[in-house]
Amino acid sequence: MFLPSIGLEIHTELKTKNKMFCSCLNDPEEERPNVNICPICLAHPGVLPTINKEAVEKVIKVGLALNSKISKFSKFDRKNYFYPDLPKGYQISQYDAPLCVGGSLNNVSIRRIHLEEDTGRLIHGKDFSLVDFNRAGVPLMELVTEPDIKSAAEALSFVKELQLILRYLNVSDADMEKGQLRIEVNISVQPEISNFKSQTPNKLGTKVEIKNLNSFRAVGEAIGYEIQRQKNLLEKGEKIIQETRGWDDKKKITVSQRLKEESHDYRYFPEPDLPPLDLEKFDLDNLRRELPELPTQKRERFIKEYGLLPKQVEILVVDRFAAEFFEEAASELKIQNPKSKFQTLYNYLTSDLFGLVSQAKIGYKDLKITPENFAELINIIDKGEISTRTAKDILKIMFETGRDPSEIIETEGLKQISDESGIIEIVKKVILENQKAVEDYKKGRENALQFLIGRAMSELKGRANPKILEELFKKELKD
Ligand code: ZN
Ligand code: MN
Repeated sequence: MFLPSIGLEIHTELKTKNKMFCSCLNDPEEERPNVNICPICLAHPGVLPTINKEAVEKVIKVGLALNSKISKFSKFDRKNYFYPDLPKGYQISQYDAPLCVGGSLNNVSIRRIHLEEDTGRLIHGKDFSLVDFNRAGVPLMELVTEPDIKSAAEALSFVKELQLILRYLNVSDADMEKGQLRIEVNISVQPEISNFKSQTPNKLGTKVEIKNLNSFRAVGEAIGYEIQRQKNLLEKGEKIIQETRGWDDKKKITVSQRLKEESHDYRYFPEPDLPPLDLEKFDLDNLRRELPELPTQKRERFIKEYGLLPKQVEILVVDRFAAEFFEEAASELKIQNPKSKFQTLYNYLTSDLFGLVSQAKIGYKDLKITPENFAELINIIDKGEISTRTAKDILKIMFETGRDPSEIIETEGLKQISDESGIIEIVKKVILENQKAVEDYKKGRENALQFLIGRAMSELKGRANPKILEELFKKELKD
C-alpha cells in the first residue's frame, strides 16, 4: 500500500487600490497593455519601493481568519531569478520572516502566509513575445500548507473553502479563470509501514511539484494522475525524481518541465530598500473586529436560526448574494417567526427565483425584486391567499417589473377564491362533464378526485384554494 502526502502552494492576487510597492492602480479589468505602470514597477534604476499597508492588512486578516500566528517582526527579501516578465530580475517576496505562521483550515495545517509581488504577463505570438506590465507589482499573497492532504477530494475542499473565505474577507475575488487564484500542488507517495509501531512517522517520499493548474477540475485530475504515476514507478522499483511537472490539460497527464530548484538557487537576501515591518504597531484587535462573519459561523447560525438543512444552508453560504437576500427577506418574516415560513422562503428563492435569474441570464445586481417584496409574497402564500400556481405567476411578474405582489394581486384580480359560493358552480359543472372520473372515485379511486380538483382548478385559472375544492367535491359526491 502507498500513502500520498499532498501540500498546496496557493497564490492569490489581492484586491487593493494600488500595487504592492508603487502607487500604480491595481486594476485587473484593465485591458489596454502597459497602462498602469511607472518607473518603480518597471524597475528603472534608482527608484525606491514603498510598502502598501492595505495589502499587509489584508494578509493579516486572512491569517486571523485561519488562526495563524501574526508575526511581530516581518521583512521583505529579494528572490533572484531571471525571466522576461520580471523587470527587476528579482521578485520582492518574503523568505524567513513571513507575515503569518501556522494556522489551519479543514484540518489541514498551514505552514505560512506571506506577501510578495506579481510578475508581468507574457503574450506569445508566432515568432515574437510581448510583455504587459500592468500586473507587475500587483500584491500577491502566497499561502503554503503542510503536506497533510491525502486525496484530490480533500485538496479540492480545502481550496474551495479558502476561496470562499477570501471572498468573505473581500481580500480577493479569487477567480481561478482570471488567474486571481493559482494553485500549485506538491505530491509525494510513500510505502505505508503499518506493522512497525515504534517507528517514527514515515519519512515523506520524493516530492514532485505540479504547475499549470487553471481550474478546480485540473487540480483534481492532476492529483489523481500524479499519485497513480508515482505508485506505478515505485511498484516497478524505480525512483521518483524530484522535479517540477506541468499539467497537460488536453492529454490529462503531467509532463516533466525542469528539475526542482532549491531555495539557495534564488540567492535570497533581505530587501535593502524596504524597512523591516514592526507588526506590533498594527492594531490587530481592530483588524480582528473588522472580520466579517466567516462561512463556518454562517453555516452554524443559518441551521440554528432558520431551521434549514445543512445542504440547503450550503447553497446560501457559497453565494454571498443569496445569503444576503435570504436574510433580508427572512427578517421581514420574523414577526410571526415560524420555521415553515423560512422553508417556503428558501424554496421560492433557490428554485423559483434562481430559476428565473438563470433563464434570463442576468446578474443579481440587475434583479428588480427587492427582499421586502419577496418576503411579502411569502407572507401571502403562507396565509393561503393565493395558490402555488398563482404564486409562480405573480413571481414572474415581480421578476419582470419589480412590482409589489399585493398590488399585482389587486390589479390582476388574482386573489384566491376562498368562499364556497364563488366556486360551487364550477364544481357542479366539472362533475357533470367528467362522469367517468366520478364513477372511478365512487369505486374508491383517490386519484380520480385529484383529477376532478385539477379540472376545476384549471377552470378557475388556479385561483381556488385546493383544500376548499376538495371539501366541496367530497360533499357533492357523497350522495
Ligand atoms: Zn508602478
Ligand atoms: Mn510565490
